[in-house]
Amino acid sequence: MLDVLRRIVQEVNAAPDLEQALDIIVQRVRVTVNVDVASVYLADENNSQFVLMATEGLRKDAVGKVRLNNGEGLVGMVVEREEPVNLDDAPSHPRYRFIVETGEQPYHGFLGIPIIQHGKVLGILVVRQRKSRKFGEEEEAFLVTLAAQLAGAITHAGASGEMLRLLETPDEVSVALQGLAGASGVAIGQAMVVYPPANLDAIPDRKVTDVDGELAVFREAVAAVQDDLRDYANRMSGVLPAEDLALFDALLLMLGSDSLVEKTEERIRAGNWAPGSLRETIAEHVQVFEIMEDSYLRERASDIHDLGRRILTHIQNDRIASRPAYAQTVLVGEDISAGQLAEVPLEQLAGIVSASGSSSSHVAILAQSMGIPAVMGVEGLPVSRLEGQTLIADGYRGDVFVNPSVLVREEFVRLQAEESELTAGLREIAGQPSVTPDGVSVPLYLNIGLVSGIESELHSEGDGVGLYRTEVPFLMREQFPGEEEQRRIYRKVLEAFAPRPVALRTLDVGGDKMLSYFPVREENPFLGWRGIRISLDHPEIFLTQMRAMLRASAGLDNLTIMMPMISTATELDIAMVLINQAIGELIEEGEEVHRPPIGIMIEVPSAVYQVKAMARRVDFFSIGTNDLTQYLLAVDRNNSRVASLYQSLHPAVLCAIQQVVEAAHKLGKPVSVCGEMAGDPAAALSLLGLEVDSLSMSVSSLPRVKWVIRSFTREEARDILRQALEMDDPLAIKQLYNSVLEQGGLGGLIRAGN
Ligand code: PEP
Ligand code: MG
Repeated sequence: MLDVLRRIVQEVNAAPDLEQALDIIVQRVRVTVNVDVASVYLADENNSQFVLMATEGLRKDAVGKVRLNNGEGLVGMVVEREEPVNLDDAPSHPRYRFIVETGEQPYHGFLGIPIIQHGKVLGILVVRQRKSRKFGEEEEAFLVTLAAQLAGAITHAGASGEMLRLLETPDEVSVALQGLAGASGVAIGQAMVVYPPANLDAIPDRKVTDVDGELAVFREAVAAVQDDLRDYANRMSGVLPAEDLALFDALLLMLGSDSLVEKTEERIRAGNWAPGSLRETIAEHVQVFEIMEDSYLRERASDIHDLGRRILTHIQNDRIASRPAYAQTVLVGEDISAGQLAEVPLEQLAGIVSASGSSSSHVAILAQSMGIPAVMGVEGLPVSRLEGQTLIADGYRGDVFVNPSVLVREEFVRLQAEESELTAGLREIAGQPSVTPDGVSVPLYLNIGLVSGIESELHSEGDGVGLYRTEVPFLMREQFPGEEEQRRIYRKVLEAFAPRPVALRTLDVGGDKMLSYFPVREENPFLGWRGIRISLDHPEIFLTQMRAMLRASAGLDNLTIMMPMISTATELDIAMVLINQAIGELIEEGEEVHRPPIGIMIEVPSAVYQVKAMARRVDFFSIGTNDLTQYLLAVDRNNSRVASLYQSLHPAVLCAIQQVVEAAHKLGKPVSVCGEMAGDPAAALSLLGLEVDSLSMSVSSLPRVKWVIRSFTREEARDILRQALEMDDPLAIKQLYNSVLEQGGLGGLIRAGN
């Protein structure tokens, strides 16, 4: 049964549109469960009726016509109950309703299964039998399992089909694809689709007309890989043992073999583009090797996959190099990396639309800090079909419009204009201090990570840098940057802000920030080798970074060092030994270095309970609410499926912050917040009440937060916090803060910020 299930789901996933997806479902279900009728009803747009969308066994012309109001008939009963209804004699049930249009005869056996996604009934799968039949537990379990898996595929097929229609008839209707607000702002531009670098398995099929051109691209890539392999083997001869070098010969042999190259060329001639053809051929070869008895030959499967990846890299590099960005580029992908973001010149990057991730994903945070609107986690985004299409990405609401109508476009152009007016209004407070009306100063620092961003005029606004994510320059290279290269990067930032303090955070890779040249494969990367854990396991990397930071600060002395992901005091002790070693070495070498203030990020729950122990060892704390929220609430910050549970204004998060501030202040250590929470006007008000000493945020959020700080006294903020802490529901707390901002005349900030 598992096989059948898998096959049906695969077929449905591959269906080009909803109609075909539903037809596949009813055909396969009718045969598999051996019934007279299999049908699917789906909710209409208003959720007021359930419409017969596909059937095998009833009259086909009833499709689209039979509409059942909410609660009507047995179908209505399945929707209401949100569970299967299994009857051996449906007509005798009081909820039974005879539907003439379907050509129904009195069918007796009835089994209706709800198709549910994210807690909402999307539709019902119904099977019927003319004779009386009580469906068995096995059959019911099979259909429940199938329906649970079909919900996502149906949404996807629906969106893709809708999109196809829109692509064929642009400018008529504008339907929004729903994603999650990622980074605020509205983007209007043309879609530039990017794929994960050399991820062969994620490559879609695509039709080509210029077959000769495609063949040439493929042949060039194969030749380039042959050159690379020969080159590498030459360089490594004498370095690698002979058996390892033999691998390169084996790869070259495979590339020379007819089967791999010719099979791919055949597929290209049949009309698929080179990457798609390559994917299919490699998959075919890998399969052959994977089922071999001999373990040595089985191992070769991964070599073939690697070979495919190498060829694909060349094809992609050629395409990217030969593909200039649009004047207003909206970067679109299943998953967009920081590196891909950096490939588009900033002045041409209008927005980002990603099928995965959420507002707390690093790419969204980066977008926010660059002032680029982003929409994340767009389910059913037909990535492969969007290249060159006009898109509107609403980073406030999380909507994406493909080929919008003139009216929708005009509306968003108006919104963009309003937004720049608001920004202009906010600029009026530029230069004024971040002080509450009762005189409490709350310094506002900046979160930055892209050196090219530090020239922005707005940076003069920040009181310094509260978080410089050093991993960003690491992500954009092909190997670890050396000490001198790092020194130059850090020096630029320290110089740009001197004498204002700059907190350089030590390398925080792992989780969703993978270095292509230092791959770490783990089942649970966010609970794995991340941040300080990698640094301490690789003292050579950590020491190089420490030396570069300390040297960069020479003569400026505005450096502070901050360490991520600390979960025990022991880690801190080991890190301190290394930092002291770096300082000692540099002094010995005659460099003019001083011990900078050293702090840690509180982002692992264990650190919340150890502030006292930590405070004896460090100079300051900075709460990383992005991770702290994820770990406290056990909600993956990148997972769009659970994004609604990711709430920084959750009572548990507020209590944790309160506890950290109280414990740190008792020992005279200041506390900052540098997670995205600090840049959200409503949440910033909560942090003012929590007595956090300073806030650090992206440059685009700073004016809004300053406005909040200048509008509420500390006492008022404490009062609101007291009310918030009485509440149990995170959404109610958010509403409370939003309504307080509205009443304070700062409603514009929430509309533009939510
Ligand atoms: C955080 O976790 O809140 C934080 C600022 O670090 P990052 O988002 O880079 O993980
Ligand atoms: Mg973090």
